[in-house]
Amino acid sequence: MKTVKDYIRTIADFPHEGILFRDVTTLFADARGFRMAVDQMLHPWAGERIDKIVGLEARGFILGGAIAHQLSKGFVPIRKKGKLPGQTISQAYKLEYGEAVMEMHEDAIQPGEKVLIVDDLLATGGTSQAGVQLIERAGGEIVGCSFIVDLPELGGRKLLESLGMQVSVLCE
Ligand code: IMP
Repeated sequence: MKTVKDYIRTIADFPHEGILFRDVTTLFADARGFRMAVDQMLHPWAGERIDKIVGLEARGFILGGAIAHQLSKGFVPIRKKGKLPGQTISQAYKLEYGEAVMEMHEDAIQPGEKVLIVDDLLATGGTSQAGVQLIERAGGEIVGCSFIVDLPELGGRKLLESLGMQVSVLCE
């Protein structure tokens, strides 16, 4: 029987030479694979109160929308700078070379709301850390962070756990 990992394709030298890119579009394109991924991403949080799903741009939107629908909860996007139309709060984070900024609508999360963060892949953890900071600044309480793939050698899981986060991954 195929596992979630079996549906993910690896593409060499994308977006730069030397990078092995994990392409989850092949997982999303397969009805069985996509459902399996969504179900497995939700499994660790069964029985927990969750009020909102936060998805990180861009593949976190696809997963987050499906997970929010499954739980009948609201979905909140965290986007790269300049994409959200309303009043936002911003958080800078480090990239391999330089810095980037993620944004969230300032009224998207209410104080005390329980939030699950979702994205396709955890690498250095910089993107997710920015998400954690934005949600906590809005007063949200993070139940956990759920990813399909972890690249453990890049340390993202350790970083998130050092911030007190519960982290779930489906494969490495
Ligand atoms: P981090 O901030 O270093 O943890 O990088 C994670 C972010 O980069 C996530 O939003 C991912 O979607 C994206 N990302 C980095 N590498 C890959 C990859 O190999 N496949 C898919 N997404 C990736």
